Amino acid sequence: MEEIIRKKTYCDWEIVYNYTDEELAEAQMFRVKISKTIELCGEEGGTSYDNKQSCPICGSGRVQKGLLMLSKFPSLGRVAICKTIGGEVIVSKKFKETVEKYNLQGMMFQPILVNGTIASDVLQLIVKDKVCISTKTRFGVDCFDSINRPFSEERKTNICGHEITMPKEIYVCPNHDLLGLNILSELYVTKESYSTLSADFARTLQYIGVKRGLLRPEPLYVCKRGFYEMVKSEKIPGLDFEIARIEDCLALKKS
Ligand SMILES: [Zn+2]
Repeated sequence: MEEIIRKKTYCDWEIVYNYTDEELAEAQMFRVKISKTIELCGEEGGTSYDNKQSCPICGSGRVQKGLLMLSKFPSLGRVAICKTIGGEVIVSKKFKETVEKYNLQGMMFQPILVNGTIASDVLQLIVKDKVCISTKTRFGVDCFDSINRPFSEERKTNICGHEITMPKEIYVCPNHDLLGLNILSELYVTKESYSTLSADFARTLQYIGVKRGLLRPEPLYVCKRGFYEMVKSEKIPGLDFEIARIEDCLALKKS
């Protein structure tokens, strides 16, 4: 299979789940997917980070210090929420007002400095409540799970006549904070972390993705029904949902 993939039988992929109305009505938790990513990030805009708290192996978990700084920010366009390539989440002021109108918990908002000036129409979304990803969730490099290696070796490649060295990348960290490059199943959250979650919106304790240039591993986002129903009834653009399964870890350990 790996040989076939090298011959580029496909160049992009996405797993899409279709749910019945009954499944959506019964779901207690959803994975929140932010559909728009902008080619900007805080690091290139001068934002400060506390890298001492990030994992020395995979780069997960760096902590932002102070306000998010961007060199520019054209506009959100037709969506109410987007994220940067560095994983920072940006929302419209209307998004914040709607969350406050519904009195939903777990979302904090702070100003964004765009080229040194506080932006008037967008804010950074800060999420601190966490849930734990269950071991039942599957991760891998490609959609067929045929390339499921924990890291890639340094390699040289030729791009337009220039020899480029591609550094080693970590996909699965031995510190258990980075779980994989891509998620290949629905998200399973441990029952214990769900039962102690009081917020309506949260992030996962663990990360997925890779440290590559300005890219950083990112948490996944989840919500309870209150947030899901707000987005549907207010027709907030820019968000997709998958059902997040709540996993009884005791049962998993026995099996
Ligand atoms: Zn790590």
